[in-house]
Amino acid sequence: MRNHRVAVIPGDGIGLEVIEAGKQVLETLSQKSDDFQFEFEDFDWSSQRYLETGEYIPEGGLEKLSTFDAIYFGAVGSQEVPDHVSLWELRLAICQGFDQYANVRPARVLPGVNSRLKGAEKIDWVIVRENSEGEYAGNGGRAHRGHPEEVGTEVAIFTRKGIERIHRFAFKLAQDRPRKKLTLVTKSNAQRYGMVLWDEVFFEVAKDFPDVTIDRELVDAATTRMVLKPETMDVIVATNLHADILSDLAAALSGSLGIAPTANLNPERAYPSMFEPIHGSAFDIAGQGIANPVGAFWTAAMMLEHLGESTAAERLMAAIERLTASGLQTKDLGGTATTQDATRAICSDIEQQ
Ligand code: NAD
Ligand code: MN
Repeated sequence: MRNHRVAVIPGDGIGLEVIEAGKQVLETLSQKSDDFQFEFEDFDWSSQRYLETGEYIPEGGLEKLSTFDAIYFGAVGSQEVPDHVSLWELRLAICQGFDQYANVRPARVLPGVNSRLKGAEKIDWVIVRENSEGEYAGNGGRAHRGHPEEVGTEVAIFTRKGIERIHRFAFKLAQDRPRKKLTLVTKSNAQRYGMVLWDEVFFEVAKDFPDVTIDRELVDAATTRMVLKPETMDVIVATNLHADILSDLAAALSGSLGIAPTANLNPERAYPSMFEPIHGSAFDIAGQGIANPVGAFWTAAMMLEHLGESTAAERLMAAIERLTASGLQTKDLGGTATTQDATRAICSDIEQQ
């Protein structure tokens, strides 16, 4: 029996609701199998904890987390804590502390889901986001605070090593997909240092992957191409900021932010990787029990795949598709189902398979 130790960090708001739902689904899947089981450990690292103790991650927390096989994360963000504090103290502390430099974000329209975009059924993308440096390197400062002449800088850091490893990762991923296409997205017309380096390293790495078809797009043009010609894109590689924005667009085009999953990977497996739905804590619907859990389910499927449980991952993905196809949908997709309705339905479907 394979045992997977998973650290669970539900975080804030609807993170608590969808991660609880996802855990139930994972338990149901493991009960159906004699091959593997989960050992979950819950961590209360949240804005609530920060308000009570002054910290998101307690002393020695990251060392403790580093012993797990994977991390299942909800969302962090509270109206009582500035977003830049919650993001940096919890989510980015983990991503950067564990060098999870490859952020993988698949997007496609699941059966039964209505997209507002005509032709959206042609969306089948994986966005690869550089997750360790760039615009979110945390480098900058403020001078003359409060003065009319106040200045704030936000300096993006791009290293050849950081760029090369994310490009290599994206090329390998593209190579494993049927269409084998990779689009480089930068803004190297206006940003002539770090972005030009991104372009140069991309074309150097491309020489090692002759079977991958490549093209490039400036980030502004990339948004229009995603909307107008979705079928022309496959894998997209972009910087931390650009891919952050493109992947929210991708999620909305494929139906709802509530559906999209992501994996923060340390491909070398020196540290655990972290899996989370891409949405945030959603103040507007938190506590109502109506959050769409599908993003957390799809995230769980990505985690299973990473843990080597490909069969279970495929079974879960098929169950998710039967769920969305059944029309049992939450409010964000135009339905009236609650988080619990969706969770109960998918669990009983898995039990019956
Ligand atoms: P959000 O993703 O929380 O919500 C955006 C909109 O999408 C809201 O209208 C929300 O109701 C809806 N939505 C999101 N997930 C949904 C789901 N599963 N089901 C149904 N509807 C859903 O983004 P926001 O409003 O920009 O941010 C709220 C807070 O979350 C902020 O504090 C922000 O910093 C934080 N945040 C955290 C993460 C993260 O932890 N990875 C990501 C994004 C935002
Ligand atoms: Mn984002």
